[in-house]
This record gives sequence, C-alpha cells and structure tokens, in this order.
Amino acid sequence: MKPIEIIGAGLAGLALANSLQRAGVPVTLYEAGTLPRHRVCGEFICGRGADALRSLGLEATLAGAAEHRSTLWTICGAERLRRDLPAPAIGLSRFVLDQRLAEIFLQAGGKLHLKTRKQCAGGQPGQVRCDGRKAARSDWIGLKVHCVDLETAADLELHLGDQGYVGLSKIENGRVNICGLFKQRPALKANREEWLCRYLEACNLAPVAERLRAAQIIPDSHCGVAGVEFARIPRSGDSQLYLGDAYSVIPPFTGNGMSIALEAAQLAHPIALDYASGDLNWETTVVRIQSAQHAAFDQRLRAARWLHPWIHSPNRQRLLGGVARLGLLPFSLLYSLTH
Ligand SMILES: Cc1cc2nc3c(=O)[nH]c(=O)nc-3n(C[C@H](O)[C@H](O)[C@H](O)COP(=O)(O)OP(=O)(O)OC[C@H]3O[C@@H](n4cnc5c(N)ncnc54)[C@H](O)[C@@H]3O)c2cc1C
Repeated sequence: MKPIEIIGAGLAGLALANSLQRAGVPVTLYEAGTLPRHRVCGEFICGRGADALRSLGLEATLAGAAEHRSTLWTICGAERLRRDLPAPAIGLSRFVLDQRLAEIFLQAGGKLHLKTRKQCAGGQPGQVRCDGRKAARSDWIGLKVHCVDLETAADLELHLGDQGYVGLSKIENGRVNICGLFKQRPALKANREEWLCRYLEACNLAPVAERLRAAQIIPDSHCGVAGVEFARIPRSGDSQLYLGDAYSVIPPFTGNGMSIALEAAQLAHPIALDYASGDLNWETTVVRIQSAQHAAFDQRLRAARWLHPWIHSPNRQRLLGGVARLGLLPFSLLYSLTH
C-alpha cells in the first residue's frame, strides 16, 4: 500500500487517518498543537456526523455522549421557538472525542506527530490537507466554556442576541458546553474568565451571563478564537486535497462543521483507498474526492451562509421572531437545508 500523509489532527484528519490505517494503509498524521485540548466548538454533532463515525467503524468514540432531541430558541431574551430536532443528535466534547480517535489511531499502528507544523507542498501525491480554517481578517470571535451544574430547558438552547449568539449544549457526564460567536467589540476589555460573560451582556444576553456566573466552570475549559471567517467558497481548481474546514467553513449556528469534517472523511475513504492500492493516480483521486464534497456539501454551505445574517442581525431577528411566533417558521425545512 502507498503511504498517506495527513496534515491536521482535527476531526477530518483523525477520522480519515483512523479509517485508512485500519484498512492497512500506512498513515502519518501531523498536528501543529497538542491533543487532547479544548477547542472553540458547540460540540453538537448532528445525526449525519454520528452516522459517518459509525460507518467508519468508530462508533466506540461516541460512548457516553449526551443525546439531543429538543431545542429552544430565544431572541434577545424572549422564547420564540421550541422544537424537537428532525433527527436525534449528540453532544460530546472535542476534548474527549479527539483523544479517543487519537488513541484508536495509535493502537492501529498509525504515526502521530504532535507539535509539528507541517509545510504543505503543493499537490504532493498522498498528502491530504485537514488543517482547518485559514486565519483570516474577520470581525468574529468565538468563545467557549464547560459547566458542571447548569440546568438547561432543552438539550440544545440557542440564544440570539445583538450581533452574536450562544448555544448551550449538553455533553458527556451531565456537563454543558456554552459556546458563542460574536461580532468583535474592540472597546470591551475583560480577563479570560470574564470574556464570555462580558460578550453575552454586550449582546443583550445578560440572563445567559447570569446563569453562567452562577454555574461551576470546568477549570481550563475557557477558550477563544478570533479570525473566524466563513464566507469563503469551497476550494477547488488547485492540485491539493482539502477536507473539513480546510475545504470550506459553514457558519457555526448550524452545528454542522464537525459533521461535514466527519462526512468528508467518510467520502474520501474509499477513493483514497483506491489510490493507496495503486488503482488510481493522485490527480484523479483529488478530483474525485473534491467532486464528492461539492455534491455533498455545497448546497448546505450556500443555505447556511444565506441564513447567517438572520441569526445575528437585530432587524432580521425581529422578522424571524415574528414568523416563529405565528407558527410559520419552517424549522424542519431549514434544518434539512443546512444539515
Ligand atoms: C464558535 C464555533 C462554534 C462551533 N460549533 C459547532 C457545533 O456545535 N457543531 C459542529 O458540528 N461544528 C461546530 N463548529 C465547527 C467545527 O468546530 C469545525 O467545523 C470542525 O472542528 C472542523 O474540523 P476540521 O478537522 O476540519 O478542522 P479542525 O478541527 O480545526 O482541525 C484542524 C487541525 O489542523 C491543525 N493544523 C493546522 N495547520 C497545521 C499544519 N500546518 N501542520 C499540522 N497541523 C496543522 C490544527 O492545529 C487543528 O488541530 C463551530 C465552530 C465555531 C468557530
């Protein structure tokens, strides 16, 4: 079997590395950071992502995940929608999921190089870029923390505020992930522990900040990321192979980025296996995998980008809230378009 080199041990990289290594392909995985680590993410995995893990034989990594069925949406503090998800989803922290995937990969004989930032040589045969979203100039900041004793009114609460939103998502061990995306406010100053609460207050989401202040926070789970950008169209037309956020970034309110990363690994697996077995050359492998991603994800990406301003801009939120109050919001349709 020809070797495969994967750059980036996020979900796309870890899932593909595992599936190929276990099929007998020698895989080397490079990760710039350490594992496990807390990452800014709502940690809500929709059904397709969980199914992708199962189909790759990685179901064991989902043990103990919280099951998600119900959602609750508020706009500037007022409840506007309560719905069950069209299909069950799960909540599992990246800290746990990444670690489990890394362990299985190592047990299967894979090579994992942590703290190794790999240069990406253009179109090198057998090299897959799962190196996440590109750093970009952007107005958005993502912030996250885990709590142990926070009661939620649904498995997933989504609170839309003025130029920002936050999700409260149940994860393993009765914990709750609080993760928000906010337009940056340069005048806002706070220390690391206060950052999320201050942003919530600035976005008219003070009641969520109060709940967070009263909750017990998991030490070291505070994390943040700036330069979050999701307007980029999917990459194509160059000879490199991109999966997951490296291919394109879906707006986080959908809770679909992890699923896209896992589904991309599932799509890439049989084609990359044909390359490793000598049945395909690398150029054809890249074209086939990118075409499969276009077919699977482009409509979802377009719909999510169109909807994103409705989630964070107050004028559009008012309209959205009005439609929801009248019972006219096609929640299942919008969910199916973005998942
Ligand atoms: C605020 C926010 C909330 C979100 N909430 C959700 C949610 O609830 N549900 C959901 O499904 N998705 C959510 N997402 C999106 C989700 O986190 C991403 O889509 C997902 O992590 C993408 O996985 P990935 O493997 O493509 O990239 P990543 O997980 O970003 O992994 C890329 C890896 O590559 C490494 N790397 C980068 N460059 C190099 C290099 N040169 N050499 C070696 N390693 C390198 C990085 O260190 C990183 O570990 C959210 C995102 C944000 C910002």
